[in-house]
Amino acid sequence: MNPAATNPSLQPFPARRRTFRDLRSALYFAALPGGNYLINALWHQRLTGGYLPRAIYLETTNCCNARCIMCPHEKLTRPRGHMPWELFTKIVDECAAFEGRGLKLFLHKDGEPLMDPLLFDRIRYAKTKLPRSRVHFNTNAALLDEDQADRILQSPLDSIVFSVDGASAETYERIRAGLDYAAVRGNIERFLELRRARGGRLHVIMQMVVDRDNRHEIPAYTQLWGARVDEVVFKPMHNFLVQGTALSGGDLGTKQGKRCSMPFQVMLFYANGDVALCCWDYDHAVALGNVKETRLLELYNSPAFAAIRAAMRDKRCHGIKPCNVCSQIFGHDGPMWT
Ligand code: SF4
Ligand code: SF4
Repeated sequence: MNPAATNPSLQPFPARRRTFRDLRSALYFAALPGGNYLINALWHQRLTGGYLPRAIYLETTNCCNARCIMCPHEKLTRPRGHMPWELFTKIVDECAAFEGRGLKLFLHKDGEPLMDPLLFDRIRYAKTKLPRSRVHFNTNAALLDEDQADRILQSPLDSIVFSVDGASAETYERIRAGLDYAAVRGNIERFLELRRARGGRLHVIMQMVVDRDNRHEIPAYTQLWGARVDEVVFKPMHNFLVQGTALSGGDLGTKQGKRCSMPFQVMLFYANGDVALCCWDYDHAVALGNVKETRLLELYNSPAFAAIRAAMRDKRCHGIKPCNVCSQIFGHDGPMWT
């Protein structure tokens, strides 16, 4: 059974309400282009009753060269490929109406961005259209050769995360299956040398996902990278709905213990333009429309999204997939996105 069938269907706004809402929205955007994102979001909500996403995740590619144990990438039933250029520019162009300091554009979802042949064109386009927003991506750095490093450092990218989940080959290769620790570490060290030689404003973050078997390497990791990058981040390993890898154990209860902020703040698009509910919805468990024919903000303020937000507020997500199997609200995983 299609899980989307259990969720509220996507119905357009009633015509009169929609026209009024669109008019107020158009007036608002005409009066306040760009600027401070927080002010934009507050005014938008006040004038239109609608939400603005604070972060947009684009699945620029869903191809990957790894088989990390906490990631359901191999379980994807969706077609593999890269986001078409026209789709990418449509989304970015629509974001230009409400961007501002505080909006973040992430160029990754279920895939490795360095496998995307259009990555550097996308970075340049996004920073041209959204000069006040932060453009970022996460990478496993396995393909970070000197040429890629050079192109990243010459690009207007704001920040990058290198996902390296250990300070030894044994630990790293257990978690990031299919990748070679020595090669990845060498790639990052060469990148940091190049950055040191060139200078520049790119913010570099080393990120380690922590489970029971690698947490003893946190001090060595800090020692190794702490003085060489701008930030070192440790995140508890999570369940990704189906992986059974959560540091917290990942058992689900019958009572919804927490609320999740993702449907209120984040908007994600799969490579084909379908809207994803959240970072964990890896295989399109819930139908929220496609941005090819519909405006981004209309999708984000659709009745389907509103129903999920209402259920989240009231802690009654038992009938909402994939939230009803999510260890973040029915278990004890920490927040996926804050
Ligand atoms: S976590 Fe990232 S690098 Fe690892 S398999 Fe998933 S998409 Fe690929
Ligand atoms: S509760 Fe879980 S599945 Fe639902 S939106 Fe949040 S992270 Fe996604």
